Amino acid sequence: MADKQPNRGFFSSLIPRHGNGGGRSAAAATLEWAEEQRRAMVETQLRRRGIRDERVLAAMGRMPRHEFVPPQLFPEAYEDHPLPIGGGQTISQPYIVAAMIEALALQGAESVLEVGTGSGYEAAVLAALAARVYTIEYDAELARTARERLSRMGLANIVVIEGDGSLGYPAAAPYEGILVAAAAPEIPPRLFEQLTEGGRLVIPVGRRDWQELRLIRKLDAKPVVTRLGQCRFVPLLGEHGWEET
Ligand code: SAM
Repeated sequence: MADKQPNRGFFSSLIPRHGNGGGRSAAAATLEWAEEQRRAMVETQLRRRGIRDERVLAAMGRMPRHEFVPPQLFPEAYEDHPLPIGGGQTISQPYIVAAMIEALALQGAESVLEVGTGSGYEAAVLAALAARVYTIEYDAELARTARERLSRMGLANIVVIEGDGSLGYPAAAPYEGILVAAAAPEIPPRLFEQLTEGGRLVIPVGRRDWQELRLIRKLDAKPVVTRLGQCRFVPLLGEHGWEET
């Protein structure tokens, strides 16, 4: 599972060139293109690779991922790799977003914390699957842009916070689910504390360049760990993260 931006030497999908398309507006053509891209993404990148939660598949099949990437990368929005979003950060590959969210096993009534808002895409998918989403971002500019984008899209059950998510967000704790979208050297203790009993934390843990994706469940106040596979994320910064280079 790769989250870091690979070398992108290909350009395999193109948005239709907008004429009036025989009466169709450019906006309608784009919507149709995006819908087709999402259908293909769900089938080939998610379902075929083992994502089974129909709610996750449906939410990602509806979410307009192209609205979360810089305009020049619009044609690549649904491709099978992460993309740069500015500030040296990335929007994660669709598969890893689906795998992490599926591991939270959301039913719809939960309060969820995401660490690493980035573009806001993953928070938007979470907001379609849970009651409330708090998402915290270290980079002030990314936090501002994501807050504006999510509010423009009318997603009212998401709160974007600027701050150090390695400390969690105690003001709204506890959470049934916590998703960390950046690589941690260890499981940040404050995040585990902010889980409900029975709550789930999904987090990449390991070296700065390679990590293991882990699901930690809080059972009888103790961590029960499931290893979900290797992955590669940008580093978690802050008090319980890596030092900035
Ligand atoms: N979930 C995002 C999306 O859907 O676009 C992608 C997240 S990106 C892979 C990782 C993000 O974690 C970056 O935006 C980075 O600035 C942020 N980050 C790193 N350390 C952080 C910290 N201590 N607290 C909050 N955010 C942090």
